[in-house]
Amino acid sequence: AVSLSGISKSYDGRLVLSELSLDVAPGEFLAIVGPSGSGKTTVMRIIGGFETPDAGTVAIAGEDVTFLPAERRKVNTVFQSYALFPHMSVLENVAYGPRMQGASRAARRAKARELLDLVRLSEAAERRPHELSGGMQQRVALARALANGPAVLLLDEPLGALDRKLRDEMQRELRRVQTELGATFIYVTHDQDEAFGMADRLAVMRDGRFEQIGAPAAVYDEPANAWVALFVGSAN
Ligand code: ATP
Repeated sequence: AVSLSGISKSYDGRLVLSELSLDVAPGEFLAIVGPSGSGKTTVMRIIGGFETPDAGTVAIAGEDVTFLPAERRKVNTVFQSYALFPHMSVLENVAYGPRMQGASRAARRAKARELLDLVRLSEAAERRPHELSGGMQQRVALARALANGPAVLLLDEPLGALDRKLRDEMQRELRRVQTELGATFIYVTHDQDEAFGMADRLAVMRDGRFEQIGAPAAVYDEPANAWVALFVGSAN
């Protein structure tokens, strides 16, 4: 679904990403983990089309999109701050997506209802965002991103603003929705329990490189090096 090849990026002469390569399969849930400043968000911005690499290529669904702007890529991004339109109902928020504009109003609303069902918010369809809890608002944002029908969803700390209990609940919800839709998720989180619990594979980042990419159990049991072992807490 997503293929990065030889991606490098510098800011002010400082190398932030260094010849990164990564292949994410359709329907896969890949989590990117790593210390603060290791380049996780920059990778997401390059996949999303908010940033162009200095070298390397980005392909999405088999198409080279390296120089295509965000709105022309088959990806959608869910940020930590999920700005919903305050004056619109939940249903309208979901039905508003840019890739839905070609469809009739009835078709858009039907699709929006389907997605609200999926994120278990059917009851809240006619309410305004401010009447909802943080977790519910996050689910609206997710439904809205999914309404655009992307091949790939990029989620950068999507649960970062939620308290522990809601996070646990939303982790299960996100994984369920991803599996049901067979969507491809690329997920950045600071929370290692979250990454280990949710992802099919982890990409462990350090100083602009992937130290290891593998299934959570493989990364934990067979860390590629001492640094990874220390980072994931399996060193002893
Ligand atoms: P965090 O976990 O703290 O969000 P991260 O792993 O997502 O960090 P990035 O945000 O990708 O890391 O940043 C990687 C490095 O690139 C950091 O040193 C950051 O200061 C630098 N950087 C990112 N964006 C820019 C920019 N627009 N201009 C200059 N430097 C930048």
